[in-house]
Amino acid sequence: MTAILKNFIGGEWVDGSGVTKNINPSNTNDLVGEYAKADKAQTEKAIAAAKAAFPSWAQSTPQVRFDALNKISLEILARKEELGRLLAREEGKTLPEGIGEVARAGQIFAFFAGEALRLIGEKGASVRPGLDVEITREPVGVVGMITPWNFPIAIPAWKIAPALCYGNTVVFKPAELVPGSGHALAEIITRSGIPAGVFNLVVGSGSVVGQTLLDHPDVAAISFTGSVQTGRKIAQACVLSNPMKKFQLEMGGKNPLVVLDDADLKTAVEVAVNGAYFSTGQRCTASSRLIVTEGIHDRFVAAVAERLNSLSVDDALKAGVHIGPVVDQSQLDQDLRYIKIGQDEGAKLAFGGELLKRENPGHYLQPALFTEANNNMRIAREEIFGPVAAVIRAKNYEEALAISNDTEFGLASGICTSSLKYASHYKRNSESGMVMVNLPTAGVDYHVPFGGRKGSSYGAREQGSYAREFYTTVKTAYTYPG
Ligand code: NAP
Ligand code: MG
Repeated sequence: MTAILKNFIGGEWVDGSGVTKNINPSNTNDLVGEYAKADKAQTEKAIAAAKAAFPSWAQSTPQVRFDALNKISLEILARKEELGRLLAREEGKTLPEGIGEVARAGQIFAFFAGEALRLIGEKGASVRPGLDVEITREPVGVVGMITPWNFPIAIPAWKIAPALCYGNTVVFKPAELVPGSGHALAEIITRSGIPAGVFNLVVGSGSVVGQTLLDHPDVAAISFTGSVQTGRKIAQACVLSNPMKKFQLEMGGKNPLVVLDDADLKTAVEVAVNGAYFSTGQRCTASSRLIVTEGIHDRFVAAVAERLNSLSVDDALKAGVHIGPVVDQSQLDQDLRYIKIGQDEGAKLAFGGELLKRENPGHYLQPALFTEANNNMRIAREEIFGPVAAVIRAKNYEEALAISNDTEFGLASGICTSSLKYASHYKRNSESGMVMVNLPTAGVDYHVPFGGRKGSSYGAREQGSYAREFYTTVKTAYTYPG
């Protein structure tokens, strides 16, 4: 029996009032760990601890914050193989992807360590004689963080690091499906020298722990990443709360990749296969709509199917595996439901979509490629969040652009072309937050803003120095020296 891993509240590791089991999706007989579930009262304790710790952390020096964030970064990076293995084991992305995500988390903490030293205000002349005006940024207060299961360490990192960097205190709720990486990150944070109460971990369900964060008047802001459906509930709760909370929402996508006749076929195939299927297609930035012009369409479809046929779908921890399992039974059911919907709508299942049996019992699904799809089909409009993509035929660039923008989402988009004219036009006219040219829609840098438009995002951008818009509030001070 392994020990039940605890929550971290007010500087102490505490037992919960229930247990959540963390199961390996590559082998459902493998129990990754058991985690104490916090209840409403414990979540309230965590909020109280974060509130009590706020005034002093808000006044801490940039050096203190740099030292803590830098220490966290160094430990994450030093342990990236081990933590990457834990991540791949609990979430099902491949080991190299897991290690890559952990390294990313370490880099994010390093970036925000530096940002702590770069928060400089402005001072200017007043329009009134003899006065000074100063503009400074102050932390917001207690920030509640609600994160999804598909990036169990990178997303928590890109919320927690800027929150601490700018002097906020944190109550962090990881997704109950994958608490392992969040717990490991919490342990590392507790060793960084930050005072008790500044950072709190509460594992538990959205309906209990998440809802308590939303309802509590002492939580000043909520940073959320997850589905549109939950995002809407968060927005409503934040507006109805008294005082109203600041909030940012990063939600779903139905990201288009346009492939033009003049694209380099090999590049386009790699970009499409990576963007649509790697990480089992479980990325908010996955390319699920492949919009392909007439002249390259058949060659592109044949080459993608051939490439998919060469990929190995198996246990995420096995060497050489390209695609791991789907995260759990309910996500697998959703993927299969959409594969059936696509067929019923009249799209052609050109490759895959079958359940696969492997050595261990796991949620293995062969990547699915639809062709003859149109943009009105549900498989082209609704986020599936699995290894499923649909090819939509377009007459020319103009039609491809129109299809690309005809969606309620707007997170990422991409184009494969060798034409500077079309690439430039697409960058300007694609209605998304992140545009890629000859690159997969998924895969971003950490020092620049991340986020979308339309139904994909709401509120200030995450990551890079833009993160300060959410994690700080601006003060304008006037002085009359007398
Ligand atoms: P989800 O079901 O919306 O859950 C996200 C988080 O919200 C989880 O921690 C969940 O808790 C919590 N939650 C659920 N109901 C809640 C409630 N009533 N009050 C407060 N919190 C609540 O999303 P998911 O299935 O984990 O993740 C997949 C989704 O995330 C996809 O739509 C994907 O596109 C999106 N995503 C977006 C981005 C982006 O940056 N745009 C990045 C990654 C993922 P529990 O699940 O623990 O109960
Ligand atoms: Mg969920």
